Amino acid sequence: MNLHEYQTREILRRHGIPVPPDQVASTPEEAESAAAAIGGEVVIKAQVHAGGRGKAGGVKLANSPVGAREAAEQILGMQIKGLPVNKVLVAPAADITNEMYLGFILDRANKTVTLMASAAGGVDIEEVAERTPEKIVRAQADPVIGFQPYQARDVAYELGLSGRHVRQFADIAMRLYDVFLENDASLLEINPLAIVASGDLQALDAKMVVDDNSLFRHPELAAMEDHTQLAPSEVEAARAGITFIKLDGDIGCMVNGAGLAMATMDTVKLYGGEPANFLDIGGGASAEQVTAALNIILADPKVRAVLINIFGGITRCDVVARGILEGLSAVERRVPMVVRLVGTNEEEGRRILEGAQLPTASSLSEAAERVVRIARGEETPAPTPGA
Ligand code: GDP
Ligand code: MN
Repeated sequence: MNLHEYQTREILRRHGIPVPPDQVASTPEEAESAAAAIGGEVVIKAQVHAGGRGKAGGVKLANSPVGAREAAEQILGMQIKGLPVNKVLVAPAADITNEMYLGFILDRANKTVTLMASAAGGVDIEEVAERTPEKIVRAQADPVIGFQPYQARDVAYELGLSGRHVRQFADIAMRLYDVFLENDASLLEINPLAIVASGDLQALDAKMVVDDNSLFRHPELAAMEDHTQLAPSEVEAARAGITFIKLDGDIGCMVNGAGLAMATMDTVKLYGGEPANFLDIGGGASAEQVTAALNIILADPKVRAVLINIFGGITRCDVVARGILEGLSAVERRVPMVVRLVGTNEEEGRRILEGAQLPTASSLSEAAERVVRIARGEETPAPTPGA
């Protein structure tokens, strides 16, 4: 789950990281009064779950409350990378001398939390990593004793800092590490971490991604989720308790169990097909879940055929079969489908589906081969039953 900049700034501030004060506005008028209250030059920033707002015109400076209103007028209602901007942040404009990058990531390759920093901050860090990887400094936290102050100081020296900048940088890095752990983040970054005219370090932009699997123990973070920043299919999937990841292919996959879903995608690829999605419908396969899953899959216009692969363990295949038929009758769009249904009561399940003219397969390879042929137009399937 992504947090907005203004939400992350508040969390960093609470942990003693120097972040300039700010106000959030949803209308140009609110931005105007925020700017008047702040006084002097202000920066107006789109609050949107996309990076590179600066380049996209989502960050503007204004000299007066009226200027702030005009800037907010332009930014509000903008779309950045397809996402709507519904709020702007208004903060005193910083007088920047130098922009650095500082972040922590969950580093799966090294099985720990890793600090990344660069003296070439402000810009897109992925670009720095690609073009000039030598400009990125890394330091791994020991999983047992945690990230240590001497590591933070080492990084500061490597970035070319000296004097009080080293102390300030190390202090910010240690606090940032605490925020990362405390919130079960998978990414937490300050970009730019700026040296401002007074000579102090300030966090001028902040981004945090929280591990979805930890949200149950962070209700206060879960409540911060901004649904306007999610694709409608993601919102629907989350509501129905379905794990859904959109991919680029044309074969929709509806599967129960994450492992089986992975195996299904592998098998589709083995037969030369391209999965349109990963979808784990969860333990059961009730009519409601099947309906939600099919709606999510079929919302993608690229999908030409759907492979339903259900293993009836605790859930009985006949119950699943009825769920599939009921679900099918509730969705609008029709594409050919192949169902592979095995497990408890599979004969009855298959009879129910065949009675409704829905093609079934008894093995995963048979089902995958067939759905790939159908998607390629090499086999004309029976019309999919529906309402
Ligand atoms: P991002 O493009 O989405 O990462 O948005 P940022 O908040 O990082 O802003 C992009 C760039 O705008 C920064 O790298 C700065 O160069 C500039 N910027 C942001 N805030 C200020 C500010 O308060 N004063 C000045 N002068 N520039 C700023
Ligand atoms: Mn930034």
